[in-house]
Amino acid sequence: MPIASINPTTGETLKTFDALSAKQIGEKLQLAADTFRSYRRTPFAERTRMMLRAAEILETRKNEFAKVMTTEMGKPLKAAVSEAEKCAWVCRYYAETAHEHLADKVVETNARKSYVRFQPLGPVLAVMPWNFPFWQVFRFAAPALMAGNVGLLKHASNVPQCALAIEEIFRDAGFPAGAFQTLLIGANEVEGILNDARVVAATLTGSEPAGRSVASIAGKQIKKTVLELGGSDPFIVMLSANLNEAVTIAVKARTINNGQSCIAAKRFIVASEIYEEFERRFVSEMQKLKIGDPMEDSTDIGPLATPQIVNDLDEQVKRAVASGARVLTGGNKLNGPGNFYEPTVLVNVDLNAPVSCEEIFGPVAMLFRASNIDEAIRIANATTFGLGSAAWTNDSKEQAQFIDELEAGCVFINGMVASDPRLPFGGVKSSGYGRELAQFGIREFVNIKTVWIGESKTDTE
Ligand code: NAP
Repeated sequence: MPIASINPTTGETLKTFDALSAKQIGEKLQLAADTFRSYRRTPFAERTRMMLRAAEILETRKNEFAKVMTTEMGKPLKAAVSEAEKCAWVCRYYAETAHEHLADKVVETNARKSYVRFQPLGPVLAVMPWNFPFWQVFRFAAPALMAGNVGLLKHASNVPQCALAIEEIFRDAGFPAGAFQTLLIGANEVEGILNDARVVAATLTGSEPAGRSVASIAGKQIKKTVLELGGSDPFIVMLSANLNEAVTIAVKARTINNGQSCIAAKRFIVASEIYEEFERRFVSEMQKLKIGDPMEDSTDIGPLATPQIVNDLDEQVKRAVASGARVLTGGNKLNGPGNFYEPTVLVNVDLNAPVSCEEIFGPVAMLFRASNIDEAIRIANATTFGLGSAAWTNDSKEQAQFIDELEAGCVFINGMVASDPRLPFGGVKSSGYGRELAQFGIREFVNIKTVWIGESKTDTE
């Protein structure tokens, strides 16, 4: 795929970029390795100063960055502004807490003194997706740089202007040029970089196939990986839930980011007693959503990022229908220009059909009926993914059962799944492994070094 900015609202090619040559890639890896040797020694106070400056740049120029995001991948502009603000938040969070997360941890043993020290590993390759083109990168880069690592970004090929803008933010914040570099390259260059001894670890946020490929190459080289992959999150509504609130949040949780979020709610599992009412209200709210130009304030759903995503989504809906599903609303691509797809609700989806638990990346919801909590949990867990999960109930016994039995990296009770720098984020099963954010995230790319100091008597003693 060429490295090009193509506006998904109009189909217009905004800019194209030449991919880096092998020689240029080699020079960037060398700069990363050289920079790491000195950067790892910078005191926390200096890293903090630069990271706070990055936060300020994000806050001051958030409207400009938001426009770059929206014109490259189509998210509503207001959501893009919030994304830039959230990036500033994660920079501030790690600027202020990294020294605590990575402070020596004293452990009492038979040694005179023993403790754990957390040291940076070196240049880390980050392979990132287009759907949150700033956030995914900052949630890796802020902890990685605060820990003393240096970063190399291979961003998705359709968001090169976002990738270059992020590199510029870190440079303008005062980080040395080799501390964070964008590599404008295609996915085919990743293998060579993972095999290069100068790169010590990798993180990938993206699809399951990309994760499998990166993890297997890195595995052969015995290099640590963190994988943040897809999801087919359940959103369960039980009889005691506040139905008004559950419906409103359900629609938001399915259609956020034009439906292209790993933690978007994708399967809605509703207690039989309230199913009909939930279905009626949910369909009605989906029909009210305004599709259109993501630059307009009144737009709820903009275009999908690429024509391929629209075609994949359409094919999934057609497969669902072929296996017995009914379309209650939507179900069609809109005529161009732009990659638009109608907000869609599917019912009667066969639980044995693969589409019932695949990741659906667009504004398409599937509704299921459950006659009791055990059936709701069985449907929720009937997927190879395990990223997020949400359950709506005011019954404390039910809450406890959901918390215990949902197979996911997080459980939100009476709320919408969302990331927060203070809480760990990641998945189980085919949604990946490792964690980002909070203390868990900053400790992924460090050497957890045991230090043991004994008494050594002098010869004269
Ligand atoms: P993608 O196609 O897997 O691409 C993600 C990144 O991986 C891009 O930079 C892509 O480069 C690269 N890539 C693709 N195939 C590769 C390969 N075989 N080897 C090395 N690199 C490869 O995913 P996407 O369509 O951009 O993003 C959507 C997916 O990301 C969804 O599955 C979503 O759930 C997941 N996601 C997960 C999280 C999470 O936190 N768990 C967050 C956001 C998104 P090119 O663009 O050059 O192909």
